[in-house]
Amino acid sequence: MNYRSIEILTIACLAVSLFACKGPKSYKENPDFKVEKAEFGMTKEGEPVQIFTIENPNGVKVKLTTYGAMLTELHVPDRNGGFTDIVLGFDDLESYLAGHPYFAGRVANRIAKGKFSLNGKDYTLATNNAPNHLHGGENGLDKKVWKAEELIGSNAVGIRFAYSSPDGEEGYPGKLDIVVTYTLTEYNSLVIEYEAVTDQATPINLTNHAYFNLAGEGSGTILNQQMQIFADHFTPVDDTLIPTGEIGPVKGTSMDFTQPMTIGSRIGKMVGDPGGYDHNYVLNKKQPGQSSLAVRVKDPSSGRVMEIYTTEPGVQFYTGNFLDGTLEGKAGNAYQKNDGFCLECQHFPDSINQPNFPSVVLNPGEKYTQTTIHKFTAE
Ligand code: BGC
Repeated sequence: MNYRSIEILTIACLAVSLFACKGPKSYKENPDFKVEKAEFGMTKEGEPVQIFTIENPNGVKVKLTTYGAMLTELHVPDRNGGFTDIVLGFDDLESYLAGHPYFAGRVANRIAKGKFSLNGKDYTLATNNAPNHLHGGENGLDKKVWKAEELIGSNAVGIRFAYSSPDGEEGYPGKLDIVVTYTLTEYNSLVIEYEAVTDQATPINLTNHAYFNLAGEGSGTILNQQMQIFADHFTPVDDTLIPTGEIGPVKGTSMDFTQPMTIGSRIGKMVGDPGGYDHNYVLNKKQPGQSSLAVRVKDPSSGRVMEIYTTEPGVQFYTGNFLDGTLEGKAGNAYQKNDGFCLECQHFPDSINQPNFPSVVLNPGEKYTQTTIHKFTAE
């Protein structure tokens, strides 16, 4: 077994040992791992929203809110042990209420023209990214208040979020019960596990949409950070970012990150408005559904490294092309184009309309699962 398999197995075992614990235990029993809960404000409909802070013995700190089950802060060390928050975001709930998706669903990414057919029935969804449907619609899972439960195990700490999406919500068929668990391990990994069941056939594609900057949020461009994506192919798109259905080779194109390259090295060659990367990579997998190393990103200035392992077949690499300085982020930082990148592990865009892509249909009696691990080191 190689180093990476051992790593994955260890992380998986840790997560299992965490979830095996019966109900929340108090922090006093596990002084090395911390969890704190605070009020974060109210939605416009008057629903209270909480924010949780979880911390491991190495000082890695994660903030998660019940609003959209979103990751709002992630503090990880650089090569000298200096911590910084590497996730773009806001200081208060009001800004999130007005803001940007950080967790996407029921169906992440695009559905062409907001239309699909399933079991002989036609469905029409919001075209909130004209002419297409994007990230679950106007009022997707990122804008719902989720229930939360604290989990503390001997080797990890986590928050389990649950939301029941009623039949017909945002135009999708079926009542969908979703559980998303974030676990921070002693090895500085943030494990995100997703589960869902439905009472009618429905498309589902959940992902985390955090914007990362390994030099620290608000520190400027990500163009000098080194990206390696373990994908020999991608899904070419039309000018509305809907896949053409082809699976194209990255070799010989500006899409090729099979060897580490700075994000900015060829970004200027990406045509379209506003340019940059906003593409789905087809991850190299020995078997579908197998967890594998999908991405490795390194910030040369701080030495921070993020590795992403996922069970998903694809990853959308998005370089914050639509950030334009109008969003006032944490501490008043105005996020500009390319100040953060997203790596959204997911099924391919528009899969519901693309018969040759892996299916996103969940049927009653089946369980949707996906696991994505973000592992942090410094060198
Ligand atoms: C999409 C972008 C979009 C961004 C923010 C990405 O997943 O591919 O086109 O602007 O999310 O919603």
